[in-house]
Amino acid sequence: MTHPNETVREKLKGLRKVFEAQLPGKILQIEGAWDGMFRDGWDPQKAEETAQLLHTLAGTAGTFGYTSVRGAARALEAMLRTAVKDGVAPSTGEHLAALKAACGETAVSLPLPAPAEAAPETSPDQPDSDEIFLVDADPLFCTSVADQLRCYGYRVSTFSSHAALNEALTSSVPRIIIMDLFFPKGTAAGDSITGIQQGRKTPVPVMFLSDGSDFSSRLEAVRSGGHAYFVKPVDVGRMVDRLDVLTARRPRAPFRILIIDDEPLLADYHATVLRQAGMTAAVVTEPQRAMDSLIDFRPELILMDVYMPGCSGMELANLIRQDETYIDIPIVYLSSETDVNRQLAAMGLGGDDFLTKPIQPDHLITSVSLRADRYRTLRSFMLYDGLTGLLNHTKTKEQLDIEVSRALRQKTDLSFAMIDIDHFKSVNDTHGHPVGDQVIKSLSRLLKQRLRTTDTIGRFGGEEFAVILTDTDKGTAQRILNELREDFAKIRHTSREGLFPVTFSCGVACPAPGETGAELIEKADKALYRAKMYGRNRVVCEEPGGASTG
Ligand code: GH3
Ligand code: MG
Ligand code: MG
Repeated sequence: MTHPNETVREKLKGLRKVFEAQLPGKILQIEGAWDGMFRDGWDPQKAEETAQLLHTLAGTAGTFGYTSVRGAARALEAMLRTAVKDGVAPSTGEHLAALKAACGETAVSLPLPAPAEAAPETSPDQPDSDEIFLVDADPLFCTSVADQLRCYGYRVSTFSSHAALNEALTSSVPRIIIMDLFFPKGTAAGDSITGIQQGRKTPVPVMFLSDGSDFSSRLEAVRSGGHAYFVKPVDVGRMVDRLDVLTARRPRAPFRILIIDDEPLLADYHATVLRQAGMTAAVVTEPQRAMDSLIDFRPELILMDVYMPGCSGMELANLIRQDETYIDIPIVYLSSETDVNRQLAAMGLGGDDFLTKPIQPDHLITSVSLRADRYRTLRSFMLYDGLTGLLNHTKTKEQLDIEVSRALRQKTDLSFAMIDIDHFKSVNDTHGHPVGDQVIKSLSRLLKQRLRTTDTIGRFGGEEFAVILTDTDKGTAQRILNELREDFAKIRHTSREGLFPVTFSCGVACPAPGETGAELIEKADKALYRAKMYGRNRVVCEEPGGASTG
């Protein structure tokens, strides 16, 4: 079998072959443009266009390892730009000779990406994704946290001293270590961690616990290589969410990168490099298609060419930023522009970073993934509800607008459900607010577990949830929600008063042509109201699907 990296190399080499084949045509085109500058007397506008062609050629040639072609094209471009600025026509003819001569030279070796690292699952250093070592001087704390973590399927070993931890580490490697940042006496966590990580190829992730959230404690945790920081008393639900990510129990979805470049070859080249690094890349070669792609593909970073015919990268970046939904999406310019002043001007127009072509594949991968990662993390704070980790009200509505327009455009099914817990006020009144919170969390956990990752689940209000089911017709949505309703009713919640069940009511609606997200919410809300009227604990579809009880 071919190694995946081999396939990528072959693909990149194939792209270079295409470039080689296109090169004579590109030179002819530049020659034509060159002659055009002088045809009816010196024409600065035509010179500008010729400079543009040379600029694009320089970028592409550099990327495919044709350094001489790149150099010659860049020199000609610079000369033309000076000529335009000074208003002095260059002498005709002989300047192109250097460029043509450069085309005869062979390319230096094509820069290829380094082999992708082995997936952590197969690393012998990390034998067990569910094993956690918990270190805390307070045995009561240890037992209480360990018991709760075990409910979520983790295996937990507890230690009351760093010495005991070190002893255990000689015979096994946990997936993660959770420890207090400051031990009452003896070793500071930082020293202990340094010892633990010594000689390991892959460091063991560490989550720190602390009594305080002050800057110096947090700094100490970061300096000691901590991957997460939780303030006591810890919210175990949140801790589990973080643990799931750190221990790769919940694999991270690949970053989605949108490449906008009018040169298909280059776009394809950069997409191939990013895909090889495990990212999902989509390509747009016509700037006017960018907005559709933002809705359909939901990128986490845009890699933007600067010079494109019809609409420049800066204009497009500005246009994208004027839509509130995309105000914070990272836009990274990728261009052969090396003039720092022009780069800075471009950044002022909505860009976050400027990478110059040709870029080493590994540099591209690092720059892109770092920014996409930060964007994803920042968004997670803005988008998610603190109690449940579900999308918040605003973002759920935004997502619904996006999904509705996508479904109508692509003519796919879409269902929307509103869920409201029954008699929740009396849960609070009888068992107290914290128990009510637990009920809200348990319903959100059930929804997260049972719905697909392509579905959107939001906390719409206090005890109200919204679910967007993509590619799902009304009948199927009703069946799925009814099963969820039945299962939720089976859960016995705990309080000091004993065990008790809770139910929910649900309204389902689908978008009609031309309908907006807000109209869809209204329809689902009406169906939910009827579910309550008919006696609660049921799923009701919008009219004319009629009421259906479960
Ligand atoms: P119905 O079956 O008609 O929906 O009755 P209900 O009691 O569930 O509805 P109502 O809207 O009258 O009461 C909702 C209650 O939910 C009131 C509010 O105090 C409570 N609530 C809202 N947010 C939270 C929360 O975050 N935690 C807890 N524990 N309670 C909340
Ligand atoms: Mg309510
Ligand atoms: Mg309610």
